[in-house]
Amino acid sequence: MKEMWSSDLLDMKPYVPGEQPKDRRYIKLNTNENPYPPSPKAIEAIIAAANADLRLYPDGECGDLVAAISEFTGLPASRIFAGNGSDEVLALAFRAFFASGAKARTPDVGYSFYPVYAALFGTNIEYVPVNEDYTVPVEAFLDTPGGVVLANPNAPTAAALPLADIERIVAGNPGRLVLIDEAYVDFGAETAVSLIEKYDNLLIVRTMSKAHSLAGIRAGWAMGCENIITALNTVKNCVNSYTVDRIAQAGAAAALRDREYFESTRRRVIATRERSAAALRALGFDMTDSKANFLFVRHPDFPAKELFMKLRERGILVRYFDLPRVSDRLRISIGTDGDMETLVAAVADIIGKRR
Ligand SMILES: *Cc1c(COP(=O)(O)O)cnc(C)c1O
Repeated sequence: MKEMWSSDLLDMKPYVPGEQPKDRRYIKLNTNENPYPPSPKAIEAIIAAANADLRLYPDGECGDLVAAISEFTGLPASRIFAGNGSDEVLALAFRAFFASGAKARTPDVGYSFYPVYAALFGTNIEYVPVNEDYTVPVEAFLDTPGGVVLANPNAPTAAALPLADIERIVAGNPGRLVLIDEAYVDFGAETAVSLIEKYDNLLIVRTMSKAHSLAGIRAGWAMGCENIITALNTVKNCVNSYTVDRIAQAGAAAALRDREYFESTRRRVIATRERSAAALRALGFDMTDSKANFLFVRHPDFPAKELFMKLRERGILVRYFDLPRVSDRLRISIGTDGDMETLVAAVADIIGKRR
């Protein structure tokens, strides 16, 4: 029946998300979700939004959510675009700026959705090898032929570039879009928001899924000059005028306005990350300097794939990527202190048994 399919879809390899298993309860450290629940105010707002008004379409411009993002970031509403999760915002951005043979440069180790968008939208994408230590070589992202796509902190490496390097990249590509995906920025990296009013070629994408504990409602946003925001709205309004439903708009806005809750959960995740990193180092692991809510680790004498499978048998899910340059590593999301103590004890036991 594939003869019905569009010809360019036949070879498409879609993104494979981390598993969400239903066979048993796992300690889930495989998709970088937040171990803490969303703000109680977000849950209240979501419940309150489940009312008779659901018969009406939502606000296509997401006015109140954009206002909450504006309060959260300090940017004017005219520089903000709200979307149905940042993956969708990224897809709209690829379609708006990098489609149909346009060029873009991205690190060879990066968020594995970018190659998928590139294939779907016909981006002529170039992969720049990251350094041996997984840091991004800044020089290779200056004077690019068509623009840049970069997660900062990067995924799955957890390594971040300082703001000064991001500014060099933005300033080094006049007239070409530099897309910075800040999905993990709240866990310790520097945001490039301060550059938005200074450069007309910078697009920053954020998500509610990680630091705001709202992966389940699908909300994200983008920030850029008005020309960039207009381009995103143009693509959006060619596909679906109402990408963010009433419930997601209400929940995301309330979560952003509960700054205190956001600050306290992200601090807890950062503190747990530091403790977990030290415990895993003591077991002989090496790792990148994480500025995200996950660790990217390698054990010199224990194959990552075997460790991944043994942890899975014990009900602990982490992420293993069978891809060049990263197949000797695991990506471990930061859970609660209890989750991480269980993980460290299981790892110590597995490694100890083989010795
Ligand atoms: C998790 C993640 C996203 C996706 O976020 P959603 O808003 O849940 O779609 C985007 N970019 C990176 C780098 C991520 O890790």
